Amino acid sequence: MKYFIYCRKSSEEKSRQIQSIDDQKRELTLLAKQKGLEVVDIIIDEKSAKKPGRKGFTKMIEQLQAGEVTGILCWKLDRLARNPVDGGSITWLLQEGKIEEIVTPDKTFYPNDNVLLIGIEFGMANQYIRDLSKNVKRGMKSKVEKGWLPTRAPLGYLNEVGAEKGTKRILPDPDTFTVVKSLWKRLLKDKLKFAELYRVMESEFPIFRKSSILASSSFYKIFHNPFYAGLFKWGGEIHIGSHKPMITLKEFEEAQEILKEEVQIRHTDLQFDLKGIFRCGVCNAQITAERHTKFNKESQQEKSYDYYKCTRRKKCIKCTEPTVSKKILENQILEFIEEVNIPDEIIEFGLSELEIMRKSDVEPVKDKAIKKEIEHIDRQLKNAMNLLLNEDDQILQKMTKDKILELKLSRKRLAEELELAIQERKDPYADIRNSLELIKGAKYTFLNGSKELKRKVVRGLGSNWTLKAKKLYFKPYFTISALQSTKELLEGGNFRFELNKPQDINKKLPSEAVSFVWSG
Ligand SMILES: [Zn+2]
Repeated sequence: MKYFIYCRKSSEEKSRQIQSIDDQKRELTLLAKQKGLEVVDIIIDEKSAKKPGRKGFTKMIEQLQAGEVTGILCWKLDRLARNPVDGGSITWLLQEGKIEEIVTPDKTFYPNDNVLLIGIEFGMANQYIRDLSKNVKRGMKSKVEKGWLPTRAPLGYLNEVGAEKGTKRILPDPDTFTVVKSLWKRLLKDKLKFAELYRVMESEFPIFRKSSILASSSFYKIFHNPFYAGLFKWGGEIHIGSHKPMITLKEFEEAQEILKEEVQIRHTDLQFDLKGIFRCGVCNAQITAERHTKFNKESQQEKSYDYYKCTRRKKCIKCTEPTVSKKILENQILEFIEEVNIPDEIIEFGLSELEIMRKSDVEPVKDKAIKKEIEHIDRQLKNAMNLLLNEDDQILQKMTKDKILELKLSRKRLAEELELAIQERKDPYADIRNSLELIKGAKYTFLNGSKELKRKVVRGLGSNWTLKAKKLYFKPYFTISALQSTKELLEGGNFRFELNKPQDINKKLPSEAVSFVWSG
């Protein structure tokens, strides 16, 4: 039986894993000697085997077909062929029996060997994998361009199954979408801390993963993922998603603020009802709380007292705000609740009046302005896109891309605002309604409610809560102020309980509407 020694190394192959032609020649000659094989020719190619058409290889195949030589010695199978055509010739000759043996230092291949195995050995698998990953990357890129996150959808969403490859969308998961959405809404509405939100999930909207409750780390990720606001991160960039958002961009940003606030005070006790709501009026640091325990000689019992005090985090200011007892703080809040505390039957009356008012149409005021702004952005976007097409400079290209993203984000924000305006138009009295609901029973809730509800009352009254010289200040919400003046009117005796049917109420501002309803 006669053998060829076949050596190949192309100039493209810089890898040190591949022996030089001289090394291959030397090793293979030695191998032939050791095995006692008769070598008739040494064939050398210095060309890549990625494409068919090597001189030496072609010559070798012809001679093998002629049947004089039936064996090949080579360093590795991938020296023989790295493209399907050449690989095919070799495997065909093997199957035909024209090649009886291919000898390499590691292994000898025979006609009966698995064709696939030989294919892999030819190194075509590498190429195949490389092509595959290139295709995957290309596919992902086109998905991203179409606004689809190319990976697994986060909780609350599903990757579409069954659709044609490359057109698979991300859809709301009927099992979890509303659950996750409710949690977002709860976080925003009640300004919950992360730990509180987690407890709400456990008790009210349990989410299971592999039959156990969702881990807090996975739960945490949900509320920091902009995907829920209709965006997604990919390749270090933010993209506008085509999926249905669960919340608006504004809500996402609000949620981040709420959760951020919590990080600063996380490591302290969660027992205090009002911790983290107030800021210090002297130095603007957070007001924290602490508990002191005293032994009462008379009752022979320990009693604890809660205090609120400035964290004194702002190093640059020497803060003088004194510690204040929980009792003093809570009394001030109760006093304010008293100022807006309107009898329940009047609140009920107001709520039913609002229901009647809601049914009448209100002119769209805001929409037109927003629509105009969107049109303006669309024009800018069109210009920027054209600019991008004609721009060769990489830095300018990057700048234009950034500008486009910025414009797209503004556009998304405006579209959300428009939608909200439309929704509000459906219920222009939502704010008043919420305030009325809040005030109804606020005192009872504040005295007896859970920590969550108590915080909700305080936060529902107004914003910018500040403690200065042991006194609480805050900015009451618009509708709360309106209630306050209504209460004053009531107590001033201007109130007639027999109200006339309000007329032209639609043209009034909400605050006027409130006073109007109650002042008659
Ligand atoms: Zn302070």
